[in-house]
Amino acid sequence: MRPISSDKTKSAGNAKNRPCSLFPARRLLRASLLCAGLAACSQRPQSLTRMEPLIGTVCSITLHGPAQEDAFRKAFDRVREIENRMSVNIPESDIGRVNAAAGKSPVPVAEETLALVEKGLGFARLSGGAFNIAVGPLVTLWGIGTDLAAVPQDADIAAALGRIDFAKVAVNETEKTIFLQEPGMALDLGAIAKGYAADEAARILRQQGAARGVIDFGGNILVLGSRSDGTGWRVGVQNPVQDRGQYFGVITASNAAVVSSGVYERFFIAPDGRRCHHILDPQTGAPVRNGLVQVTVTAGSSTEADAFSTTLFVLGLQAGMELAEKTEGIEALFVTEDKRLYATRGMKEIFSLSDRSFAFEPGL
Ligand code: FAD
Ligand code: MG
Repeated sequence: MRPISSDKTKSAGNAKNRPCSLFPARRLLRASLLCAGLAACSQRPQSLTRMEPLIGTVCSITLHGPAQEDAFRKAFDRVREIENRMSVNIPESDIGRVNAAAGKSPVPVAEETLALVEKGLGFARLSGGAFNIAVGPLVTLWGIGTDLAAVPQDADIAAALGRIDFAKVAVNETEKTIFLQEPGMALDLGAIAKGYAADEAARILRQQGAARGVIDFGGNILVLGSRSDGTGWRVGVQNPVQDRGQYFGVITASNAAVVSSGVYERFFIAPDGRRCHHILDPQTGAPVRNGLVQVTVTAGSSTEADAFSTTLFVLGLQAGMELAEKTEGIEALFVTEDKRLYATRGMKEIFSLSDRSFAFEPGL
């Protein structure tokens, strides 16, 4: 998914494409915003974009309005704080310490880590375990997105599957601790914490007086306010079967999060030609293979949109659509590998298809 823009931002340009030493270059092209319509303003809109490599991607914030350097700094500092608490790759983070103490002892964590882990467990229960923040052992085993990515042995998958029971994640609200009850268990908030970081950045920006702008954290888009003419921002949805940066349709939204999960983000091709992507099926222990290539969710909260996009992807078209339709406040768009589109009723009103090689199916 990518945002689309026709306004005259001072630094947006192709800065997204700048190589970043921390992460693979393909991560950097993941999303951008189409902020169309601002050119229609009587005055040239004043806007600024700032980017930082954080939480495993390039985090970009564009703000419209008077000088906002303080707002940028505070928002990025907040994201850095979240990364330092919730990254699985930082041994001193809350999650790093919880994982290191698996099977040994409860670990005191920040209140927000506790709350996000509880939220993640809520999604795990809601989805019957399709969304599973205890998926860490499988993520490590497959190593997707790392130099060690490879198809594991069946026995290793079976062993990892034995260590992903989210019911064994014990959260103690009084003591503010998290305890993984079995050795070898590991939390991974990769499917929800990026969304949370975007929500927190938005909160800080609003606090700093920013009324309009776009947060783009590697495909997690959150739009603040509306365009200068009062209409919604236009967010391009990544074409799941084309190069990054190609979109096949546009979602129009104001004050909303738009988040996609897909098979094209992090993957490797196995020797037998299979595409092994990073969204793992806690039933099989392998990358989800259910005919979907992408799910995009809009919601008021980026945390919710992030968690739901992964949840619906793992649940698959039928169960995912049922859950999306009955959940208030979210809309979803499902894309199958044969380029069929399925959308919730509300999504049909805000999504406009531009690539006619995709086609809507009337329903399930
Ligand atoms: P989503 O669909 O939202 O999530 C997929 C990710 O969730 C997978 O990559 C995996 O981590 C996890 N997952 C897989 N299957 C399931 C499942 N069934 N249920 C629940 N979760 C599942 N990337 C780096 O390369 N280097 C870093 O240092 C780094 N640090 C990060 C720090 C933080 C705090 C966060 C939030 C992310 C970081 N990342 C990093 C990126 C991260 O590893 C994921 O790739 C990214 O969050 C995936 O987001 P997505 O929107 O593409 O996919
Ligand atoms: Mg997600």
